[in-house]
Amino acid sequence: MEKLKVNKEACISCGSCAGMYPDLFGFVHDETAEVIVDDIPEDRKEDVINAIEGCPTGAIGYEEQKVA
Ligand code: SF4
Repeated sequence: MEKLKVNKEACISCGSCAGMYPDLFGFVHDETAEVIVDDIPEDRKEDVINAIEGCPTGAIGYEEQKVA
């Protein structure tokens, strides 16, 4: 299973993702962005692609999750 993540090492806090989709990305715990929803709804996949492409450092992407 893959989960959408922000690589906090790579995020430069530009605000692009959270500015475009404040219901998907936010600055909750620190000054770097994070994904604020557990599961991306099917009809938001295109928005996620836009956010990934709009991130200047390529910090947003899918990460393989271990299923317990
Ligand atoms: S667009 Fe990328 S660099 Fe900018 S805040 Fe979002 S994750 Fe960070």
